[in-house]
Parts: sequence; structure tokens; C-alpha cells
Amino acid sequence: MTSNVLDYTKANEYLAEFGRDGLSAEELLDSRAHAGITYNDFLILPGFINFPASQVTLESRLTKKITLKVPFVSSPMDTVTEADMAINMALLGGIGILHHNCSAEEQAAMVRQVKKFENGFITDPIVLSADHTVDDVRAVKERLGFCGIPITENGAMNSKLLGIVTARDIQFLEDGSLKLAEVMTTELVTAKKGVTLEEANQILRNSKKGKLPIIDDEGHLVALLARSDLLKNQNFPLASKSGASKQLLCGAAVGTRDEDRVRVAKLVEAGVDVVVLDSSQGNSVFQIEMIHYCKKTFPELEVIAGNVVTWEQAANLIAAGADGLRIGMGSGSICITQEVMAVGRPQATAVYQVARFAERFGVPVIADGGISNVGHITKALAMGASAVMMGSLLAGTSEAPGEYFYHEGKRLKRYRGMGSLDAMERNKGDSGSQKRYYSEDSAVKVAQGVTGAVVDKGSIRKFVPYLITGLQHGLQDIGRSSLSEMQRCVRTGQVRFERRTPAAQAEGGVHGLYSYEKRLFS
Ligand code: GDP
Ligand code: 5GP
Repeated sequence: MTSNVLDYTKANEYLAEFGRDGLSAEELLDSRAHAGITYNDFLILPGFINFPASQVTLESRLTKKITLKVPFVSSPMDTVTEADMAINMALLGGIGILHHNCSAEEQAAMVRQVKKFENGFITDPIVLSADHTVDDVRAVKERLGFCGIPITENGAMNSKLLGIVTARDIQFLEDGSLKLAEVMTTELVTAKKGVTLEEANQILRNSKKGKLPIIDDEGHLVALLARSDLLKNQNFPLASKSGASKQLLCGAAVGTRDEDRVRVAKLVEAGVDVVVLDSSQGNSVFQIEMIHYCKKTFPELEVIAGNVVTWEQAANLIAAGADGLRIGMGSGSICITQEVMAVGRPQATAVYQVARFAERFGVPVIADGGISNVGHITKALAMGASAVMMGSLLAGTSEAPGEYFYHEGKRLKRYRGMGSLDAMERNKGDSGSQKRYYSEDSAVKVAQGVTGAVVDKGSIRKFVPYLITGLQHGLQDIGRSSLSEMQRCVRTGQVRFERRTPAAQAEGGVHGLYSYEKRLFS
């Protein structure tokens, strides 16, 4: 008679006999056997927990060369990502992609704002001469937001450092025409060229000054360090930064027409790290040519191509040299592409299939659109995405462009598709939204998106940490302590899945209550 008392050894024997519970990703997403599915159609089965959620690491690749500590990307939409969103996404460990529904100059100015926000060594600081006036300093403050300005003999870099002007030197001066020679501080703490960032930061800490000019043997100014950057560094340990300059990473969307080549050049000059070729259907000769152009002209620039939802589309763009792919067609919350064009693919299937294909060539993919809660993020990453791109989820935050307004007692912000008539009409010049949706030459504009509103979500400084913590808890439940480990175990079939019927989906949401309040975090 077989005993039905279970010890660990027996348990494993029984399990071996039973086979694995649930489905592998391959079984779940076999779209030849089943219909395509999306995030709400399935769940991930729980695993074994032997680590705290806070230990789960989320590091992931955005492109072949760029790695993020947090796999979150904000959509290039004019109601989602301008400089403020891009700065804060990067501070929190993700990245923002600036929209291109504006002139190339405006977009490049946004890139500069992001790049100037945080620095290691500032190698091109604003410098003035002793003959400049207090009003000149105030003008810099007005334009760029800071006023700690080194003064050199000829008012430029690589010239003899004479002094420094700070906010305190000019605060109470009424006469704006006063020469800086009369107000600047000349007793300076400086560091010598060749000093490491770490050493220079230590000098800055000890000196209690706001700025540390770096000079060469002849006393010529070669760089500047700001104390405020030390603080930002301390407060945002996950921040996404580029190698030596320690500036925040910044992405920008561009189209694929000839004039977009000029735009790319301006963005590169402003310091952009990655461009996203913004097409709703990326498998086009325009996009292939644009990838070739970018990779040849700016070899350091990372290029994310898309959008794609099939192996064949992905193959063309990978072969053209794409450093990353953006996946999604018709999955966005404001999107009516599937309705109007009859083209697209359910998002979980699209992400799984394209990620599986692109992985063979080392090309990371971004799941774009349709993310409406933390669970969707975990699922998109389990499907193989290296990062998720979010529009509606971030649109109601205070860092998104636009003012809040009230409607029936709710505080809202406007959110619109870049293929909505509203967005396409915003800016006819060389702006991008019409091009994404191919209708600039047509007599009739066919909308592929709608205009709406989303509720206030407060600042992303609280909302993104909530998303991060939620994702860490998700991975803990799955029993995997890093994103890469979870993805590996999805591939090997160790992470298991279950489909959900519509009734099961209803069961998985709040149900059976007379009323309730849904507060997501505190
Ligand atoms: P300030 O005391 O008015 O100069 O301002 P803070 O030191 O508080 O802030 C300066 C911020 O602007 C830091 O994050 C700098 O890295 C950044 N920054 C970017 N470019 C420049 C520049 O040319 N000069 C200065 N002073 N800061 C710059
Ligand atoms: P969400 O996060 O709101 O679900 O989706 C955002 C994504 O929708 C964007 O990143 C972009 O790929 C896509 N998108 C933005 N505007 C439009 C539009 O007007 N039409 C379509 N089809 N997709 C859009």
C-alpha cells in the first residue's frame, strides 16, 4: 500500500509523475493553435519565495548599448513626455522619449534641458567675463535656471579663471549694470585638471562651497562641478546616466522623412542618447533607409525602430541595424488603429512572438501600449519585453505636459493619441504626429487615435516608485529575484502560466461589493 504522507523527496517524485502544473509560455502563446491574447487573458502561476521583494533587481536593456535600472519608458506623446517628464523618468531609473509634435529646435531645446539637469564634470558651463554685468547673470538665471557662473579673462572656457559669481553675490543688488569685476568672489577653492570625479566630489563636500571650478596648470578653467549634483546623485540612486558626463539619459522620437535627418542632427548636437523612429507600422522602406542613415552618420547614436508586431517586420528592421524594437499596433488606450485599419495584433502575443525572434539577434524590445496597471508591466516583461512604454499610465501625473482641470468633481488632465485629429492639426510645419500616421498628403485625414482625459495621479516621484515596488512584489510571487532570471525561466518553461476565461477575469477584479474606493498606494 502506498503511503500518502508527503516528504520533500516524495513530493518531488510525485511532481515528476504529475508533470508541470500550468502552461509554458510557448503553450500559452501558440497563436497557430489559439487566438492571439493580451495581458488580461492570462495569469502567471506563483513560484517559491526565498528572498525579500526589496532585493528583486529590475536592471534591463533598452537597446543593444543602453541599460536601465528600471525598465520604464514614457511614450513620445505631446500629452506625456516633454523635458520635465524626461528628467524625472531618468532620475527614477527609466527614460523619457521626447515627442516630436513640435519643431526640431523646440525638441532639441528639450533635450538640452534634460542633459543640463544633472552633471558630473560640466565641461561646457556658462562662463562670463569681469566686464559682464549683474543683469547678464540674471538673464542666465532666467533662461537656464542657475546662476553659479565662473568668470574668466575672456569670458569663455580655457581662459584664466578670475572668480565666480553666485546667487548670494547678486541677491540684493539693485544696480543691474554693475560690472561683475566688482561683485565676484575671488577667493576660490579649485581642483586641478586630472582629478577624478570622486576626488573632486570629496573636495566639494569638504569645501562647503556650491561650485568647484577645475583648472589646468596655467589656471585656465577646464570644467565645473556643482554641489547640487551631489545631492541629486544621493537622492536618486537608480538614475539613468550616460558614462563619463553623468548626464541624464534622454531619448527623442523622430519621423522617417528627409527633413527628419536634419532633426536627428540637431538632436544629436543637443546630446540625445537614443532616437525612436516613430511609425505606427514600422516595416517600411522609409524606416530601413532612416536606420541606415542614422547608423552611418551617427555611429554612437542608438536607434529604436518600430512599431512592429510580427517576426517578418522585426527581421527587416533588425537586418537594417536597429538597436531596439518597439512592439505594439493598436494596443494603446487612445488608439483606434485596429478598428480603422483592420491591422494589428493582440499585445501579449505580439510581445512574446517578436521578443522571441529578436532575442536570437541580441536586440531588446519594448512593449508599447496597453499597460494599464502594474500587473500588465510584469506580464509584458514575462512575455520577453526588456522594457515597457507607457502613455496613459503616466499622462495624469504632474510631470506630464498640460494643466489639470475639473470635470464632475474629478481632477483630470488631457490625454490624446498622436494620431488623433487634434494632435495632427496641432502643428503642421515639420512636426511629427501627422507623419506617424501617414496622412499628411491625403485630402481626408483618417484619425487613428482619440482625445480624452485621465485622472490626476500626483507626481511620478511617488507613482513610479509604486510601480517599481509593485513589480518587485510580482517577481517575488513568481519566485524570481531578477528580471533576467524571470525571463530565463520563462524561456526554459520553469515559469508557468494559466489562461483566464472572462468569468475568471471578473473574479480577478474587485467584485460583489456595494461600493468601494480603490487607493493604489500610500
Ligand atoms: P546655481 O547655484 O544657481 O548655479 O544652481 P544649482 O547649483 O542649484 O544648480 C545648477 C544645476 O544646473 C546643476 O545640476 C548643474 O549641473 C546644472 N548646470 C548645467 N549646466 C550648468 C552651467 O553651465 N553652469 C551651472 N552653474 N550649472 C549648470
Ligand atoms: P497607452 O500606454 O496609453 O496604452 O499607449 C501609448 C502608446 O500608444 C504610445 O506609446 C504609442 O505607441 C501609441 N499611440 C499614441 N497615440 C496613438 C494614436 O493616436 N493611435 C495609435 N494607433 N496609437 C497611438
